[in-house]
Amino acid sequence: MPDKTFQFLNVQRQTPRTVPVAIRVLGYGEIAGDFGSSQAGQQAERCIDCGNPYCEHACPVHNYIPNWLKLVQDGRLMEAATLMHETNPLPEICGRVCPQDRLCEGACTLEQTAFGSVTIGSIERWVTDEALRQGWRPDLSGVQETGKRVAIVGAGPAGLACADRLRRAGIAADIYDRQNEIGGLLTFGIPPFKLDKGVVRTRREVLEGMGVRFLLGHEVGRDIEFGQLLDDYDAVFVGTGAYTYVDAQLPGRELHGVHDALPFLIGNTERLLRDDPPAHAFDFRGKHVVVLGGGDTGMDCNRTAVRLGAASVTCVYRRDEANMPGSAREVKYSREEGVEFLFQRQPLAILGDDQGKVRAVRVIETALTDDGHGRARPQNVPGTEYEIAADVVIQSFGFLPSPPDWLRSHGVELDRSGRIVTGKGASLPHQSSHPRIFAGGDNVRGADLVVRAVYDGREAASSIAGMLLV
Ligand SMILES: Cc1cc2nc3c(=O)[nH]c(=O)nc-3n(C[C@H](O)[C@H](O)[C@H](O)COP(=O)(O)OP(=O)(O)OC[C@H]3O[C@@H](n4cnc5c(N)ncnc54)[C@H](O)[C@@H]3O)c2cc1C
Ligand code: SF4
Repeated sequence: MPDKTFQFLNVQRQTPRTVPVAIRVLGYGEIAGDFGSSQAGQQAERCIDCGNPYCEHACPVHNYIPNWLKLVQDGRLMEAATLMHETNPLPEICGRVCPQDRLCEGACTLEQTAFGSVTIGSIERWVTDEALRQGWRPDLSGVQETGKRVAIVGAGPAGLACADRLRRAGIAADIYDRQNEIGGLLTFGIPPFKLDKGVVRTRREVLEGMGVRFLLGHEVGRDIEFGQLLDDYDAVFVGTGAYTYVDAQLPGRELHGVHDALPFLIGNTERLLRDDPPAHAFDFRGKHVVVLGGGDTGMDCNRTAVRLGAASVTCVYRRDEANMPGSAREVKYSREEGVEFLFQRQPLAILGDDQGKVRAVRVIETALTDDGHGRARPQNVPGTEYEIAADVVIQSFGFLPSPPDWLRSHGVELDRSGRIVTGKGASLPHQSSHPRIFAGGDNVRGADLVVRAVYDGREAASSIAGMLLV
């Protein structure tokens, strides 16, 4: 075998081609293209097998990255897919939506050089897509059914990952979700240009093939009592997400033309799933849109507004670009699609006309000082206020957990911001203060990332299996 150690000198880092801007903004199709098998193999060969895989440490699910890159180099697609699933129940989804620049690829040894990191996320995506297309499915033939049963509340990534692991341990997994489709924010929050909904549907087939049962259109607390789940099952995993909007209390937020990010994105995705044209509130043709907030959700709002026909989209953020919470890739895509960024501007108020419609946002410039923890703190600069004309304003300031009442009434401890407390004083990781209730994902961490929800679901399943199968 030829030594591939210095392959990175000859083969440049390449990401899959993206759809040209002029075409992509006309619709909602995924903008990132696919690797072909030879391109994936070549990119995998760029791994220098550095001996201390920082990528693996930085990946929240600790994927065996160098090991599966080696399998891809050798053309062993199915084995690579199997190895990927050992640590990550949703690899094709993480390969698409993880902010790799802040995680695995940001930590790649080659990233510290002029050559640029291995394209880990795109390879993970390609392997899983291609293996599933060729018929790869998890092999559960050696699994012995234990007769134990677990109810999962929430079919988001935390719940799905938990179900995958439980089935591999021979434990029945029934997932209840109030929505009529699985995926949580994968389906209803993250726009289709980042994650095609067909990808989530394929994953549903895989999970159903593993014996996972979905009870959709069932809101726990309304259609079925939580206490009933505790009576009927050996344990319950709660993965209900974070849906409480952070309200910056901006004057004028009640004006016509002001949207909150999540209802805006969910509403648009729901209408796309129904194949409906944009309702009046979503008809942005010819309008000037201002998005407030610099996180990933803000970037999704920017790019959705572009696709809804906005005449201009301006994203206002109170810190500078280096301190944005959003992924650099999403900022780049937003820019390519015509979004203008206004950094170091603090919104003060939304202004309306005499018919109660938005006409502008008043902002003030900020100066950045060190907050003592390495994060820039924005401070308003007196005398720098001005107005930005706007017909539509989308507020995207983040989300907090929305703990259902039934958690507290069953003795589950929450912290002051409504997050479920796990692990504290409990004997098992991800166990709540009730010994048979486990939790993970955004309802424990606050709004976070898909891959961290996957990690929580996976690890909670391992705790549940440890408890039930002793
Ligand atoms: C617009 C947007 C874009 C994002 N983009 C990215 C991205 O690019 N990359 C990334 O890594 N992360 C992204 N995130 C974050 C990511 O989507 C979340 O961190 C992740 O989905 C959390 O997973 P979860 O399983 O904890 O919760 P969720 O995905 O929110 O799933 C919770 C599920 O619980 C269900 N549920 C809640 N209450 C009940 C009840 N009482 N009964 C039955 N069902 C219930 C809900 O219907 C939902 O299906 C984004 C988030 C948003 C809002
Ligand atoms: S799961 Fe995310 S962080 Fe981990 S290797 Fe895949 S893309 Fe990178």
